[in-house]
Amino acid sequence: MINSSFLMLPFILFACTLTAQSDKKPNVIYILADDLGYKDVGFNGCEDIATPNIDRIADNGVKFTNGYVSYPVCGPSRAGLITGRYQDRFGFSKNPLFAPNDPNMGLPLSEQTIPAYLKQSGYRSLAVGKWHFGAHPVFHPLNRGFDEFFGFLGGGHRYFPEDWTVKNIEEAKKKTSEYRTRLLHNHTRIDETEYLTDALSRETVSFIDRNADKPFFIYLAYNAPHLPLQATKKYLKRYAHIKNKKRRTYAAMISAVDDGVGLVLDKLAEKGISENTIVVFMSDNGGPEHKNASENDPLREGKGSLNEGGVRVPFAMQWPREIKAGMVYEKPVISFDIFGSIIGNISPEIPTKNQIDGVDLIPFLTGEISGKPHGRLFWRKYIQEGTGMRSGKHKLVIQGSQNALYDLENDISETRNIKNKNPEKYNELLTEWKKWQSELKEPVFLGLMEKEIYNKKHPDRFEFKESENDKE
Ligand code: CA
Repeated sequence: MINSSFLMLPFILFACTLTAQSDKKPNVIYILADDLGYKDVGFNGCEDIATPNIDRIADNGVKFTNGYVSYPVCGPSRAGLITGRYQDRFGFSKNPLFAPNDPNMGLPLSEQTIPAYLKQSGYRSLAVGKWHFGAHPVFHPLNRGFDEFFGFLGGGHRYFPEDWTVKNIEEAKKKTSEYRTRLLHNHTRIDETEYLTDALSRETVSFIDRNADKPFFIYLAYNAPHLPLQATKKYLKRYAHIKNKKRRTYAAMISAVDDGVGLVLDKLAEKGISENTIVVFMSDNGGPEHKNASENDPLREGKGSLNEGGVRVPFAMQWPREIKAGMVYEKPVISFDIFGSIIGNISPEIPTKNQIDGVDLIPFLTGEISGKPHGRLFWRKYIQEGTGMRSGKHKLVIQGSQNALYDLENDISETRNIKNKNPEKYNELLTEWKKWQSELKEPVFLGLMEKEIYNKKHPDRFEFKESENDKE
């Protein structure tokens, strides 16, 4: 008779291999806030808004003080982070229009998203909240690598269910309607009854509950605290002491996001998977201070600008298995480094479809590598001919009447133009920027700021009327 434990041996070996491999497949939760100011989180020194749960991410891991996005408004910034590379490489150079009939208005199909990449490695994935990568069916989240979707396809949304009066996308005849569509669960329009931010958090927690036993990727894209400023009493009453009504509502909206982040972190702990889950929190661009009463102090300007207030954002990451708690990392990093970090830390390693600009940050955080993740970072605003570049302590900004070189180490607020004193450095950066620009593609669609031209060209499509002043 054959010894039964001998028979078991291959199974045990197989099981061990499986365990070892799954250990090398961290879960990833990419949490985005929308238009959140640099200073408006506790870990960056906010005093009047409490973000205890968002701060847990920084406390459990690392806070990036020089964390950037690749564009100062929503769409292009998100295109960079979800593909791991400069969005201008594939022509996503503007905020897209909401055009459900246009198969070219969205994230080009040539591009591989993080979830499409991870699918090859056995991951399940969820997109929650704001999509903004195109409203035509070819761009639907389930066609771009995600297994599940809960949210809305446009660039923003109203927060109260009673405002979601557009039943189907066919009824969305005006630009405003983009903000009023019923929510989608995968391809189905649903009747949701909760405050939007709470619904997005609930669905994320439910997905973790159902998928804790396999590697997963979650793209949790809150649209808060983007306009319109709308919050429920539950959150507003926490900030009764803030006199400025705009700031009070903004604070309440962030509080809802913070509660959601808390529920997500608690669920990871309950399932025993916190240790091997990468959780990232960041904003997609700087705060538009005059619109939503956000604060980017001490950074100059905000959303839309290539000054620091537009592109340097609150940014924290935890991965208890690899990153020490309570770290502060000061060298420049950028949103698409998250894709770079994923590639460097799943096993077996799989090549990406396109060349990635993101860098694996983990060896830099563990001290295995002591240099800088990026020698230089670049920004281009195509329509406005905006030029931005960071190289070491230097920052080049050419936009509007500003043509400047700054020393961020000694002048974080970009108040002193040192271009004339340092013409060589200025020229060196500008030459490098031009070289980078030569690798880029022309824009592949007309953007939000060109809607009149678009309407003339495509009279059969949507009439984009001026709306509630809650867009770009
Ligand atoms: Ca935004």
